[in-house]
Amino acid sequence: MVEAQFYTRSANNKVVCTLCPRYCEIGEGQTGFCFVRKNEGGTLYALAYANPYAVHIDPIEKKPLAHYLPGTRILSIGTAGCNLGCKFCQNWDISKAKYDHGRTYQFTPEQAVAEALQHGCSSLAFTYNDPVIWAEYAIDLAKGAHAFGLKTVAVTAGYITPEALPRFFDHIDAANVDLKGFTENFYRKICLAHLAPVLETLKTLKRRGTTWFELTNLIIPTLNEAREEIRDMCLWILDNLGPEVPLHFTAFHPDFKLMHLPPTAEKVLEAARLLAMDIGLHYVYVGNVHTKEGNNTYCPKCKTLIVRRNWHLVHEINLKNGSCPGCGHKIPLVESDPAQRRNRAAPLYEVLA
Ligand code: SF4
Repeated sequence: MVEAQFYTRSANNKVVCTLCPRYCEIGEGQTGFCFVRKNEGGTLYALAYANPYAVHIDPIEKKPLAHYLPGTRILSIGTAGCNLGCKFCQNWDISKAKYDHGRTYQFTPEQAVAEALQHGCSSLAFTYNDPVIWAEYAIDLAKGAHAFGLKTVAVTAGYITPEALPRFFDHIDAANVDLKGFTENFYRKICLAHLAPVLETLKTLKRRGTTWFELTNLIIPTLNEAREEIRDMCLWILDNLGPEVPLHFTAFHPDFKLMHLPPTAEKVLEAARLLAMDIGLHYVYVGNVHTKEGNNTYCPKCKTLIVRRNWHLVHEINLKNGSCPGCGHKIPLVESDPAQRRNRAAPLYEVLA
């Protein structure tokens, strides 16, 4: 077992985990809320280290990232457990799993990098569950990836402490941060967490400027779809993160504890997209539904088509020296090497399942 790096010792052989804002105090023989950090004899261990639950090769658009290495493949790794308790979790078989279920694999950072290179990936993703809870493994994966020229992506709820944030994000090149709603009530009742630490994470990522990041908001019928809530969220994004941060509105499908709710209608997503753009956000997308324009990137100034996508496939990229070919407006997009744009031709490859 690998000793955790983010904790302090307290009385009676207890430890306090300092990775996420829960600050779990963990007694001997116990695990924290996320199930993957265990106190053995007064030492905290990172149970998920090199023990993923799922490893797949995905298109990077599936994370979702629209402005980072478009059209490339990404080796995606997730472990068991999670530090949030979302009742709508769409990966609940992973996030609610525990290590004694016996469905994990041995997968070292060296193996991950070798698989990524062998299968033509440009980057590694720490995804499916929240990589904050397996930060030690993610950091070592990132060090291995960077040594071989691969980039790193975290797909996260941004529920991390201010002290752990720089130690984790120093190793992350790009992130998709899930902003799950925009009321404390929603975070507390539906996610068993709090909104304020997530907003602090986003402001810190913006201030640091070292990790490219995009946002996802999963719209759930009746719970976080109110126009006022979406308007307030978009205004906050505009004021605090600026107009250029890409925002993805994605569709909920009934899962886990919310089987009684219907899937999100495309028209709801499209209305949210138009509202966000009216408010002043430049790059707004819809996901998990087929859509005419909501997957594409357009120049915010002259409306020239910059990237044409269908679902997760990239069909064309029209950039001239990083700018719109129509009007010269600079487009915030980290370009990929055309030789690495492989996701349209290859079926997704499942490394471990
Ligand atoms: S990472 Fe896990 S153990 Fe640590 S504070 Fe968060 S939920 Fe608790």
